[in-house]
Amino acid sequence: MTDLEEHRYDVVIVGAGGAGLRAAIAAREAGMRTAIVCKSLFGKAHTVMAEGGIAASMGNANSKDSWQVHFRDTMRGGKFLNHPRMAELHAQEAPDRVWELETYGALFDRTPDGRISQRNFGGHEYPRLAHVGDRTGLELIRTLQQKIVSLRQDEDNAATAAGGEPPADEDAGLRVFAEVTITELLRDETGAIAGAFGYRRETGTFVVFHAPAVILATGGIGKSFKVTSNSWEYTGDGNALALRAGSTLVNMEFIQFHPTGMVWPPSVKGILVTESVRGDGGVLRNSEGKRFMFDYVPDVFRSKYAETEEEADGWYKDPENHRRPPELLPRDEVARAINSEVKAGRQTPHGGVFLDVSTRLPAEEIKRRLPSMHHQFSELADVDITNEPMEVGPTCHYVMGGIQVDPDTAAAARVPGLFACGEVAGGMHGSNRLGGNSLSDLLVFGRRAGLGAAEYVTGLGDALPVPAVGSIEAAARSALAPFDREDGENPYTLHRELQQTMNDLVGIIRKESEIERAIQSLAAMKPRVAAVSVEGHRQFNPGWHLALDLVNMLQVSECVAKAALIRQESRGGHTRDDYPQMSADWRRRLLICALDGAGGVTVQPEPITPIRPDLLALFERSELAKYLTEDELTPLDEQQE
Ligand code: FAD
Repeated sequence: MTDLEEHRYDVVIVGAGGAGLRAAIAAREAGMRTAIVCKSLFGKAHTVMAEGGIAASMGNANSKDSWQVHFRDTMRGGKFLNHPRMAELHAQEAPDRVWELETYGALFDRTPDGRISQRNFGGHEYPRLAHVGDRTGLELIRTLQQKIVSLRQDEDNAATAAGGEPPADEDAGLRVFAEVTITELLRDETGAIAGAFGYRRETGTFVVFHAPAVILATGGIGKSFKVTSNSWEYTGDGNALALRAGSTLVNMEFIQFHPTGMVWPPSVKGILVTESVRGDGGVLRNSEGKRFMFDYVPDVFRSKYAETEEEADGWYKDPENHRRPPELLPRDEVARAINSEVKAGRQTPHGGVFLDVSTRLPAEEIKRRLPSMHHQFSELADVDITNEPMEVGPTCHYVMGGIQVDPDTAAAARVPGLFACGEVAGGMHGSNRLGGNSLSDLLVFGRRAGLGAAEYVTGLGDALPVPAVGSIEAAARSALAPFDREDGENPYTLHRELQQTMNDLVGIIRKESEIERAIQSLAAMKPRVAAVSVEGHRQFNPGWHLALDLVNMLQVSECVAKAALIRQESRGGHTRDDYPQMSADWRRRLLICALDGAGGVTVQPEPITPIRPDLLALFERSELAKYLTEDELTPLDEQQE
């Protein structure tokens, strides 16, 4: 191949959001030659869009907070399907990761006495989200990037101080490859990771990274759905890359539909309206003016949520003596409630419900606390949120499922040398993620992935893997295939069809007959996607890029649909009209997706990791009994005897 650019690293990180950058810092500080590869511009990742904050039990706003309470909230939010070790590590390490950000230069909002301010969010017992207005992700990315730049500068300075020039070898230390899309992972003859293959978006030329460890930090899958808060990069690349390399995905049926996305105008439908609006006092009303969330508090949460408006409103000022407003139930509950109100005909003029903060806070306070929301609605919808309510409805936001990983090292299942962290990894959030728990997840498991990869590479010594014969050529051929085909369909048409199918048939409320129809449609799309053809040349060609992304979206959608069909219960981000109850037996089963020899998706049940007795002991037995089977409670009973 003539136009092949080759690089050699110890660790290659695919993705430059919070997870990828934190992993890079850890890997580099452990002495690894590290590459960060991202398909968008450096700095443009979903993390930058995060608004509300980072969940960590620092106890600044309420000293009763602790990692144990955060762990409990996370397990409750995930309806006890979370990997308990991940939820434990996450709750224990999140505060250190936030304080560490300060040492990197992050500037958080402050309490009057100068500590990091923490705000309320759904499902969190205490105010827990460290934030920077409603632009927390921007500060997170800015800080991590600054740290990356400073690591790079330290290396140059060290070389200069030693009397030399900054390293002539650009690949020494830490380097960023922006606008490079990875299309395939490379493995050696034994199946272990040997690197990654991709193309430069601008020139269309190919890049090979030789590396014994690859960390996937590619984010989510939202672009498989029509209405989504996600942007163009979220095409499930990391999930599909892991599958094709022989790894497995867990819990892919659990998709978070955020309750509040914009519903109007059509061009911005799905764009997120941050949960901070409700955390800061915003209420949901239907077209009849009713504050309807009181009608939707499920039994498992009833004791913790207010029953009257007076009680709910009292909570904002005096949380010790009032129960929480039902607008702050976990996201899955609020999204389903909005969906029901709309279906019952009590919708706003544009098919949503009203979210009102204008009657709850003074205008200046709204502008101070929610500057992005104020700007977003006035620019995009001509709505002044200090004066009038917003119209909102559910939008596909986050995938709880993802690559199956070891909690302590972030090593991906079945493929030596492959690691995953951030939204692309599964397990941590169970069936439903609490707001703010993603940014903390990125930091905790990003760091662990960087350390895990470094330890793995060190353990290999000189036995470095080499890509299997012909694998680089095969990756190049498959990337160029859309140019070689004639008369295939347009990738944009197929993408729209895929999004519509997933939205309509595997969306917020699911049932067997519809999921089956989706699986049939996806199967029918497979040969059509494999025959897609594109025109033009390799220099910045979005049609070509989408043709390659489509393969990933289709594979991942097949996982979502097949797992959704098998799980016969409703839990978190998976609601079955035909199986409306949670089932303790189903909670014990994870659904694991893998590829069969012919490239099709198989889904197999696997037993869930038991919750350790000391973690079980953090809950009341009566609460656990709502989720767990009797024999799972035995260790707890034995401990208490
Ligand atoms: P990302 O930040 O999305 O980064 C993915 C990276 O992978 C990008 O650099 C992308 O270019 C790269 N990539 C993808 N595919 C490839 C490929 N094939 N080759 C090379 N590079 C690739 N969570 C919270 O905890 N608190 C919040 O307040 C919050 N607010 C949110 C608001 C919005 C609007 C959205 C959309 C999400 C929000 N979330 C929030 C969720 C959270 O932002 C994301 O889950 C999180 O940022 C994901 O981080 P990540 O590092 O895993 O992925």
